[in-house]
Amino acid sequence: MSNNDCLFCKFVSGEISVTKLAENDGAIAFADINPQAPVHVLVIPKMHVADVTELSAHPDELEQVMELAARVAKQHDLSGGYRLVFNTGADAGQSVFHAHAHVLGGRSLQWPPG
Ligand code: 5GP
Ligand code: ZN
Repeated sequence: MSNNDCLFCKFVSGEISVTKLAENDGAIAFADINPQAPVHVLVIPKMHVADVTELSAHPDELEQVMELAARVAKQHDLSGGYRLVFNTGADAGQSVFHAHAHVLGGRSLQWPPG
């Protein structure tokens, strides 16, 4: 299931090339174009869903996204900690409406976020 107007679906299909950092059956990982931390990777389901609320209705794909996010953290040696963020909706500043997990790490992260 994909959406013709969706940038991240184009990354999944290969219509727009992106350097994949990791992949499994249901998800891909690639570097964020505007990194907010030394490690800033996006993990997205291959299936088009708008946000993590929709993704939660698809447990297999959700599991694949989580597996890949954990693997990315391990690959980048984020043993000191990392943050996994799903911005969801306008109040959270979501700007791309294909569900994605931000994997952020490599520096001390403040809490609460802005
Ligand atoms: P959101 O604000 O929706 O949680 O996150 C969307 C993220 O996608 C942003 O961090 C933004 O930098 C990233 N992004 C937007 N366009 C592109 C792109 O063309 N390539 C990559 N690699 N990241 C993108
Ligand atoms: Zn999409």
